[in-house]
Amino acid sequence: MDIQPVTIVGGGITGLTLAQALWQHDYPWTIYEARSEKAYDGGAALAMAPNAMGILRRLGLAEAITDAGSRIDHYLFVTPSGLPLKSISLPKISGAWNESSWAVPRSHILRTLAAQLPPDQLHYQHPVTEIRTQGTDIRLTIQGGESVLTPLVIGADGAHSQVRDSLWTNLKPPQYQGFVAIRGVAEVDLPTKCQHAVIQVWGGAGEFGFSPLGKGKVYWFATLPWNDVENPPAAEQFYHHFHRWFDPIGSLMRTTMPEEILIHPIFDRLEAFPVPESPVTLIGDAAHLMTPNTGQGACQGMVDAFVLAQELNSSRDAHRALMRYRERRLESALTVARRSHRLGQLIHLPMPAWIKMSILRAIPTSVVLSTMKKVVGDPQSLEGRQVILPGQL
Ligand SMILES: Cc1cc2nc3c(=O)[nH]c(=O)nc-3n(C[C@H](O)[C@H](O)[C@H](O)COP(=O)(O)OP(=O)(O)OC[C@H]3O[C@@H](n4cnc5c(N)ncnc54)[C@H](O)[C@@H]3O)c2cc1C
Repeated sequence: MDIQPVTIVGGGITGLTLAQALWQHDYPWTIYEARSEKAYDGGAALAMAPNAMGILRRLGLAEAITDAGSRIDHYLFVTPSGLPLKSISLPKISGAWNESSWAVPRSHILRTLAAQLPPDQLHYQHPVTEIRTQGTDIRLTIQGGESVLTPLVIGADGAHSQVRDSLWTNLKPPQYQGFVAIRGVAEVDLPTKCQHAVIQVWGGAGEFGFSPLGKGKVYWFATLPWNDVENPPAAEQFYHHFHRWFDPIGSLMRTTMPEEILIHPIFDRLEAFPVPESPVTLIGDAAHLMTPNTGQGACQGMVDAFVLAQELNSSRDAHRALMRYRERRLESALTVARRSHRLGQLIHLPMPAWIKMSILRAIPTSVVLSTMKKVVGDPQSLEGRQVILPGQL
């Protein structure tokens, strides 16, 4: 059987990681990305946990990615008035990955992943508008009328995946989780004690966090419970809610350029996509949209991409490769998505701050560490362990 070229819909972090992992093995691929390359700018920052760093290391990109970021060694939980509650040492969650956690600008991750890819295979401003099966192949229609017949499609097209919704019409849509996130990057020098740390604060309503992001910059994020998904709060409403929390929370929000502030209602989707009948699969948010509470959405998407490329690179039978990828990754990523969901619910329980702080204090650090270790998983999952598929028993 010949190698079947892969068409990737979506050139976000997951789609680009897949392209990198295929390209490094001379496996043929093409990306259709809806937005322009310029849209990679902005996007605040992402935590890259040891699993994502392990993938980037295997792709030879770890050094380039961390160039613009900050290493994070601790999670420091503090009260809204700034009193310390709990400290989690992040090197302890790395386990066999043997990698640090980093905060990195999202634009830098995207541009680094895209940098060495051949530009003629990466089609920006090519939104896919229709996906349908045609015999054993898939026909993609691109906005403007161009159409492509391809033997293999990977939906890396994010939360509201068109690939997913075209091929499975009866799946539940992403569910609004009742809270809205705001993010930004401020140009502020943090005190030395805050270097290499994510400071995290849970209040009676909402949470706030911040971490260094390279020299003289700080990534900050917050979430607020909010009922009306159609009309999310404006930055000013977030400011009013958080500005009395300890310094520098108010000044981080105030000194960020308004055009660099992102506000997003938070959704997740915890339902597994069925075994596909067509030569199609999903990776990243398209497959398992999760709330940001474990900081794992992009990290899990990178692991998906690496494992899928591994299966495609090692098998000439594309159908089998897609099945093995689904077996190895889907339930594992959904387990992380469920943990994220539960954590999001806990943070946004309507109860006074002091009760939440007592809960946080009462959870033994060893329990937090072992949960975080489970979330980042183990590099053994990349070793392509034998998976027994239905019909092979
Ligand atoms: C507030 C917040 C904080 C977060 N923090 C973290 C964190 O710290 N760490 C972490 O790991 N994750 C984090 N995440 C999650 C992370 O942002 C996502 O999981 C990640 O971006 C998913 O990548 P993706 O490539 O799968 O999807 P996306 O980033 O959504 O990329 C999909 C791409 O597909 C393109 N596309 C969509 N439709 C089409 C179409 N029809 N045709 C062609 N192209 C199309 C889009 O333009 C886009 O470029 C956070 C998320 C939020 C909301």
